[in-house]
Amino acid sequence: MIMSFKGNYFPGLVILLLQALLFTELNVASDTGNRPDTEAAELLSAYVQIPSVSGQEKEAGVFLESFCRENGLYTRIFTDQEDSFNFAASLYPLDQQKPNIVFLTHIDVVPAGDEQGWTYPPFSGKIADGMVWGRGAIDNKALGVMQLMAILRYKDLAHETDLPYNVSLLAVSGEETGGNKGARIIASEYLEELNPVVVYGEGGAGVNGLLPSRPDLTVFGIEVVQKRRMFLEVISDATTSGHGSIPREVYSTREVTAACNALIEAIPNISVSPTVSETFIHLSDYESGLVRRMMKNVDFFAPLFGRFIRRDPISSSMLTNTMVLTSISSAEGAYNQIPTHTRAVFDCRLLPDTDEEEFLEEVKRIVSPWEVSVNVLASSPPAPVSEQGMYFRALKESLYSVFGEVEVVPFLFVAINDNRFFRRRGIPSYGLLPAIMPEELMESIHYFDERFPVGGLNKGIEVYVNLIYNILNQTNEF
Ligand SMILES: [Zn+2]
Repeated sequence: MIMSFKGNYFPGLVILLLQALLFTELNVASDTGNRPDTEAAELLSAYVQIPSVSGQEKEAGVFLESFCRENGLYTRIFTDQEDSFNFAASLYPLDQQKPNIVFLTHIDVVPAGDEQGWTYPPFSGKIADGMVWGRGAIDNKALGVMQLMAILRYKDLAHETDLPYNVSLLAVSGEETGGNKGARIIASEYLEELNPVVVYGEGGAGVNGLLPSRPDLTVFGIEVVQKRRMFLEVISDATTSGHGSIPREVYSTREVTAACNALIEAIPNISVSPTVSETFIHLSDYESGLVRRMMKNVDFFAPLFGRFIRRDPISSSMLTNTMVLTSISSAEGAYNQIPTHTRAVFDCRLLPDTDEEEFLEEVKRIVSPWEVSVNVLASSPPAPVSEQGMYFRALKESLYSVFGEVEVVPFLFVAINDNRFFRRRGIPSYGLLPAIMPEELMESIHYFDERFPVGGLNKGIEVYVNLIYNILNQTNEF
């Protein structure tokens, strides 16, 4: 509802005029708010029907880019390859160099897996039971469609008025495979041209059941920071007599398995990142007594419950540096032949404030009793936490406007996504799918029967429409 906007009042004719125009726009938005937005659902369905597994993004990318262009947005294709199709679709041409509100989405999807596991074929884009079904329906095509439809609502206004901001949909390739074919290229080569002042990408979502005393309350977590990824290899080339009949003290398979075992068994420290602490403090208001006190002082209490935290996958991913053994291999010869080379790989996820060198030293210390070496295969540089300034507040207010009584908190994302490339370049970036996601839909991401509710599309569009409005309204520049 328009009345619920909490913008400041700015005197002056220009602003009144602008607000009048915006209100007209927003009336359009609320008119379509209560019925299924078939246009968005049909677009999502058509988009899902073009398979775009990482490495084959171009066809889906071209489809989306053409849709944007035909609907009056200015498009700029940054790279045009089968496995690296990246474009922006904007209210104004990028060469106007307006400060740009960037909506980030990735075109690629993960493979569908065994088709037998799906109710409808994975690339059918079937609209049934109030849902759009298919691989990518949530991750990340619904997000892109919502962002795009919201931008289109401002198209006429942007033509009639010289808005102080540009708004762009930035659609990229290769997010699911690390971002090198997409967001990394944009952040390193095209950032000046894109001129983002803020990036809104994927990350959190609205979930219920988080709070013991208010399980019905929806909590939206806006990602403001993420853990860092580090891949380590543990190798041994211990040379030894190769016959399996005589057990030696040192041989490569034994060294690597023993070292890996020590790493898996090592007890990680509990460490409460400032963002995690903040999430708990926000939510503590809903609790009382001891639970409230513990949530308010999670820095103090969490280490006391280390044993429970380490056993719980979600808590341990939020509060510790994790190490998962993802591969172990040696050259397989005859069954009686001892291999001379064995290698294991660990997927390590570091809390944002972890010193990489110190972490590595600790790993080396743990494996020091064995004849192995540890090498870093890949690691991601740190990125600053995005502040909860004007752009964060604009999103928060928008969620309150659209969803009513919900809670919105900043949170630490334990996986990675493309937002990190922009944070590293100093651009505040916020990760959120603006939808309430019940558990069964969450579980369908990267799994069978991925699907997104048609009604959720509508709500999400409203969130982005209001978000743009809030930013325009919070700005004193005009
Ligand atoms: Zn995604």
